[in-house]
Amino acid sequence: MRVELDEPKCVASGQCVMAAPEVFDQRDEDGIAFLLVEKPPADSLDDVREAVAICPAAAIRLVDQ
Ligand code: SF4
Repeated sequence: MRVELDEPKCVASGQCVMAAPEVFDQRDEDGIAFLLVEKPPADSLDDVREAVAICPAAAIRLVDQ
């Protein structure tokens, strides 16, 4: 599984970082999220799914590849 983050959609809310800090971080300058890993390990997928569900901008997708 691969994570896609649509940066232009991100509103810098930080929910993804709280849900999955091993996968997401935020830029210091503007709070926009970025990926620490594009293909998270299996034991992080539940955290990523939570981030997908709670992102207020619907900016995160988990794709099957
Ligand atoms: S939860 Fe969504 S809007 Fe908030 S920082 Fe993460 S990607 Fe950006």
